[in-house]
Amino acid sequence: MSFKELNLLPELLQSIEKQGYTEPTPIQAKAIPHVLKGKDVLAGAQTGTGKTAAFTLPLLHRLTSQKRSKSHLPRALILTPTRELAAQVGKSVDTYGKGLSLRSAIVFGGVGINPQKKRLRQGVEIVIGTPGRLLDLCKQNSLDLSRIEVLILDEADRMLDMGFINDIKKIIRLVPKKRQTLFFSATYSKQIKSLADTILVNPELVEVARENMAADTVTQSVYHVPKSRKSDLLVHLIKEGDWNQILVFTRTKHGADRVSKQLNKEGIVSVAIHGNKSQAARTRALADFKAWKVRVLVATDVAARGLDISLLPHVVNYDLSEVPEDYVHRIGRTGRAGSSGEAISFASGDEIKLLRAIERLIKKKITVNSMDGFSEHFKVLDKEDARNKEGHTHERRTGDRRRDSYRDRDENKNRHRGPKHNRGTQNRRSQRPSSNSSNRSARRG
Ligand code: AMP
Repeated sequence: MSFKELNLLPELLQSIEKQGYTEPTPIQAKAIPHVLKGKDVLAGAQTGTGKTAAFTLPLLHRLTSQKRSKSHLPRALILTPTRELAAQVGKSVDTYGKGLSLRSAIVFGGVGINPQKKRLRQGVEIVIGTPGRLLDLCKQNSLDLSRIEVLILDEADRMLDMGFINDIKKIIRLVPKKRQTLFFSATYSKQIKSLADTILVNPELVEVARENMAADTVTQSVYHVPKSRKSDLLVHLIKEGDWNQILVFTRTKHGADRVSKQLNKEGIVSVAIHGNKSQAARTRALADFKAWKVRVLVATDVAARGLDISLLPHVVNYDLSEVPEDYVHRIGRTGRAGSSGEAISFASGDEIKLLRAIERLIKKKITVNSMDGFSEHFKVLDKEDARNKEGHTHERRTGDRRRDSYRDRDENKNRHRGPKHNRGTQNRRSQRPSSNSSNRSARRG
């Protein structure tokens, strides 16, 4: 299918061409016709599938084709869980809507409210924002949602994870009952289904990937590594693999700061982003990371939600998240829109249960990588693993394992170049981006 067949406005087709998109992604091909017809849509689309354009393009088309009322009040509201995602969606609205005369405002907390009020006063058709700031603006009579024709919930599952359910319900009460609603979520819990049931009317169901599945373009593997050795392993992988652009996830804000500090100490330029950082610092960190000025971005789940960094080659789960669904979101940062990527997880002994929960969710065993001097032999291997590894090193006695583990560490300390990969080195190296700067710009187009 081509974009032309979707019957979008010529201005939108031009923007699409400018972006270099040759054909609609599956979510776009399936969702756009329904949205154009004015239907409610319940879309199960994982991140990186092109979902933003799937709702933005037909939204811009409809708002332009249909007469606007004289009120000059906003006609479309896009709710996002994070500031970063709001900024990104806002950018897409601008990019795709370049040839059209629709105005938009992006509103989120953590920055001054007055410039946002000023923008709203000037009159906008589309408002993109996070629930908290949107409600603040409504309370202060700076935002009137009574003329909203289209309501879009982007990454609804994350909004619920972040505790926005009551804010969402309040916003729903402020928008007209008669409206079009588009509901995008990567995962489907009972809570998500019940929210969707209450706000959608006869929705068209659109799904592009099996529930809770990661994109096939992402190579997934896990290292069993003790907590105390994780930062050494990270440094080693980055240096040995000559990785240039790495997104690292930690469970806590403190953890993100600590990992970033350790990397910087090793001469690997890194910045941490999390909820305690100011919006300006987060925006700058992301811009520097995208511009390859920062090699590693260390982020918590909340801060990283919705980040769109094209061709991101490496994602490292430094800590496994408590919520298995987060794993799918995290690794969705790589392998986007068909490009390949590598997602590596570090699992220490006490994270094995989390690892198994992730594997149950994605219905797939994650390949175990091992590396001399780093791998930990766990006592708590589940039965299946124990069977698989029969005859292998895991079957050795605990005493031997401990001795080996300590010996490996000491050997490692004495080896300046660090240990060799047991597996996967060749692949990683052949895939790695060159550190040569001209190659970098070529990759980034
Ligand atoms: P999203 O899932 O909306 O975050 O989009 C993921 C990435 O896919 C973004 O970098 C988009 O620019 C890109 N993208 C969106 N639509 C297309 C398309 N039809 N062809 C190629 N890339 C696309």
